[in-house]
Amino acid sequence: MDQPYPEVTEDGYYTISFYSFFEIPEEKVSQLRDKIQKEWSENLGVVGRIYVCGQGINTQLSIPKENTQRLREWLETDLMFRGRIPRFNWAIEHRKAFKAFHVRVRPLVATGGPLDMETLVHEPQYLEPEEWDNELRSSQAQTESDSSSTPPLLIDMRNNYEARIGKFEGAVCPDVDTFRDEMNVVRDMCKDRSKSDPIYMYCTGGIRCSVAGAILKSEGYENVKTLRGGVIAYGKHVRERPDGEKSSLFKGKNFTFDKRLGEEVTAEVIAKCDQCGESCDMFTNCANTCCNLLFIQCPSCAAKHHNTCGSKLCIERAQLTHEELIKSRMPPLWDYHMRIHPEKVFGRDWIARVEKLVSSKS
Ligand SMILES: [Zn+2]
Ligand SMILES: [Zn+2]
Repeated sequence: MDQPYPEVTEDGYYTISFYSFFEIPEEKVSQLRDKIQKEWSENLGVVGRIYVCGQGINTQLSIPKENTQRLREWLETDLMFRGRIPRFNWAIEHRKAFKAFHVRVRPLVATGGPLDMETLVHEPQYLEPEEWDNELRSSQAQTESDSSSTPPLLIDMRNNYEARIGKFEGAVCPDVDTFRDEMNVVRDMCKDRSKSDPIYMYCTGGIRCSVAGAILKSEGYENVKTLRGGVIAYGKHVRERPDGEKSSLFKGKNFTFDKRLGEEVTAEVIAKCDQCGESCDMFTNCANTCCNLLFIQCPSCAAKHHNTCGSKLCIERAQLTHEELIKSRMPPLWDYHMRIHPEKVFGRDWIARVEKLVSSKS
């Protein structure tokens, strides 16, 4: 399918994602990984993160603008991919968003359990951003005019921390860290509803909802609707609308898994700095790489704490030279669950402390 290419890039790179579910024979998977690793980096200058496995491919990449058509041609002439990637999911903002290029054999979505093609064929209904917008608006209007009606479920399927900086109005964001736990929460939310009630779900680029939606459908929920292309596609749609972000149902930033850690959908800042409580929506990783804590940090706290979480250890290590760091190598401080929960790391009463600080100022 032909689609117009974006006009603006900050540095000559486009940022693109796409995925496709299809069966790849197990013995061909590592061959495919090596082929993509070689051909996309050497011939096309791609950087980014690609996952391949027996169920297909999931990609997030940046590519020099002038090579984009050649990637399209590669996909259309390769026997395995021909016809499988009808279009790219363009980012909202374009620049080189990755430093390196990694192709890995890995499940496309970390479901925490086996997932087979028989489940994946139960595809949910995919709504284009405009249809998604229209449906959410009309169901909102219906709930407002008829107080006895229950609003449809709108579920944010992303990781909980992502919703801190941006989300759809009225969405529920399950407070869990893994896909498996999230599915259990979702099942719990759905269980008292009719199997034909609409369930709306969205994620960053659409792939997580393709899987979650297929699982729900395979369990008998008939009316599962997901946002095609996820928040990325919705953000792009918002930019292209004549009324722009004013009428966006999504408020704030879309978290991205590249070095930008987010791109703007609307200018509203819905989060606070984890260290001082000022209004801020910039995620950062602690500059001490063995800490690597993911948290929200305002520019003045970044300056004050040398781009770290503020612990003595991290401030000291952030100022070591590369050689000194290699000599005093340390294992990671946190596991995944701690790393994405700054409130646990900063101390139990940390949120209360920040709130107190903020209220004493206002
Ligand atoms: Zn701050
Ligand atoms: Zn730290």
